Amino acid sequence: MLTDLTLTEAQRKLRAGEITAVELTQAHLDRIRALEPALHAFLTVTAERALDAAAGADRRRAAGKDSPLLGIPLAIKDVLATEGVPTTCGSRILEGFLPPYTGTAVQKLFDAGAVMLGKTNTDEFAMGSSTENSGYGVTHNPWDLDRVPGGSSGGSAAAVAARMALGALGTDTGGSVRQPAAFCGTCALKPSYGRVSRYGLIAFASSLDQIGVFGRCAEDLAALLSVIAGHDPRDSTSMDLPVPDYTAALTGDVAGLRIGVPREVFIDGMQPAVEQAIRAAIDQFAALGADIREISLPHTEYGLPVYYIIAPAEASANLARFDGVRYGPRHAQGALWPTYKATRGQGFGAEVKRRIMLGTYALSAGYYDAYYLKAQKVRTLIKQDFDRAFGDVDVIVAPTTPTTAFRIGEKAGDPMQMYLSDVFTLPASLAGIAGASIPCGVDEAGLPVGMQLLGAAFDEPTVLRAAHAYQQVTGWHRRAPAL
Ligand code: GLN
Repeated sequence: MLTDLTLTEAQRKLRAGEITAVELTQAHLDRIRALEPALHAFLTVTAERALDAAAGADRRRAAGKDSPLLGIPLAIKDVLATEGVPTTCGSRILEGFLPPYTGTAVQKLFDAGAVMLGKTNTDEFAMGSSTENSGYGVTHNPWDLDRVPGGSSGGSAAAVAARMALGALGTDTGGSVRQPAAFCGTCALKPSYGRVSRYGLIAFASSLDQIGVFGRCAEDLAALLSVIAGHDPRDSTSMDLPVPDYTAALTGDVAGLRIGVPREVFIDGMQPAVEQAIRAAIDQFAALGADIREISLPHTEYGLPVYYIIAPAEASANLARFDGVRYGPRHAQGALWPTYKATRGQGFGAEVKRRIMLGTYALSAGYYDAYYLKAQKVRTLIKQDFDRAFGDVDVIVAPTTPTTAFRIGEKAGDPMQMYLSDVFTLPASLAGIAGASIPCGVDEAGLPVGMQLLGAAFDEPTVLRAAHAYQQVTGWHRRAPAL
């Protein structure tokens, strides 16, 4: 089946003239039509536009042209602005909003010839770990429809895992590509902060947000990252550094690579099957000749409280712009303040309101020093833990999540329980370093387990190299849900 190809295999077949972009796109649209009623991974499917783009890609190829993603169908998380295509951030406050421009990363995909299949479901403004906070209904995990796909990029993860798209873009503020990739048994990479332009990524927490890629193997992640990485004059936080050849980094070899295993990550309360899968993966790396070393990241336990001060603080400022005047629907009440109140009161969901309140409190006079400033200082300590660790090792291996995918509704009423599912992904976000999640096993119910591979800032090549070498000798990434 065309939908069983990896992105890289599809590229080869398109180049060899064995398949057309229209056939490939149609196969994915058929799959979306068949599975959407059960999964709800998409908020908008742009079928007509996709087929037009695919036909254009076929014409270009017939004229002897090629480009890195020519004719490759992809899904885009609905927090990324796409000109003329609804962009809601999973929020009712942006229902029907049509951006007047396309963000840089998505535009780069288009320029490389990619075909957009549609916009994927997300927790509202990317705040969440299960996609249950979407204003448009939950996405279901393709391995077990009663379970969450993770979040906030749950739609993109489910779409790639369920073979509805060859790859996808998501965003990761505290784990939102890595955690859903782990829950859905697929691969994702959060690049280092500054590696990919945030222009057109509707901001949640600006010092943490980063666009990430989903794919079914390290090769696919490398292909996608190669296209979207790089400096952008429209985002002053994007770094003006050369973009390495990520595909060339996939040597298949990890002999002598120093892999760190932080002693702080095997915590009480972790599901035994997760720990077993991670330990087996570490043994696998040792068998491949990697040099396994125990390391310490002593401030790991502060990642969660620090993140849940800083992220809501930034969110409270970023979300002030949604007032019913500038974007989206307006609940007009005559006067201005009542209009703001009604629009924000009705437009935002409970979690977004909780974060705006937490963040406003943490930033208020009298509490700023005690909470926000303190959190920033501890953030620096967390970053220094990684700086020290990467003096001794090249890559860090850790679980992506303490458990496999939980049931829909299981944690929805308890924000603290929900926040705890990010405990292993938050530190890398706070430090701004590179991090991937790849499948490395299953639990007793057959649900996927994800392994995190962390690299120093801008060392995506080493993360991808480790992931690829592991995937040359294991088959976890090739397992597909029975749908
Ligand atoms: N789950 C975390 C949160 O709720 C991270 C979300 C994200 O990375 N966008 O904030």
